[in-house]
Amino acid sequence: MHELALVEGIISNVIDLAHERKGHVVSFKVAIGEFAQFDKKLIKDLLVELVKGTELERAKMTVEIEKAEIKCLYCNSKWKVNELLEPLSNDQKEMIHFLPELLNSFTKCPNCGKSDFEIEKGRSVRVVEVELNV
Ligand SMILES: [Zn+2]
Repeated sequence: MHELALVEGIISNVIDLAHERKGHVVSFKVAIGEFAQFDKKLIKDLLVELVKGTELERAKMTVEIEKAEIKCLYCNSKWKVNELLEPLSNDQKEMIHFLPELLNSFTKCPNCGKSDFEIEKGRSVRVVEVELNV
């Protein structure tokens, strides 16, 4: 279960950061990428479960879904993936969700018409904000 190791890692990173800066965590925010290959609900449930008994138990935790973004490698313009998916069929959207590399075959850059993309955001799970009370 990759999710468990991932969530344990997130929690210990936040605690380490607080120790390094000699503070207490008031709140922290975790972003789960839209295209992250994890079970998003499981990650949320594990976060809630695993902070129990740690110093993060009383911190305010926010979990948000991070929208995927791509960069056109030809003209460098950036796009939200859902804008590009708009004209596609539901089947195609679903395929891209599981295999984001397929974006290159289904869509073109609205700016230059090429289809050479790099996924910049939305593939990982990460801590995006930690508020400390020092
Ligand atoms: Zn382009």
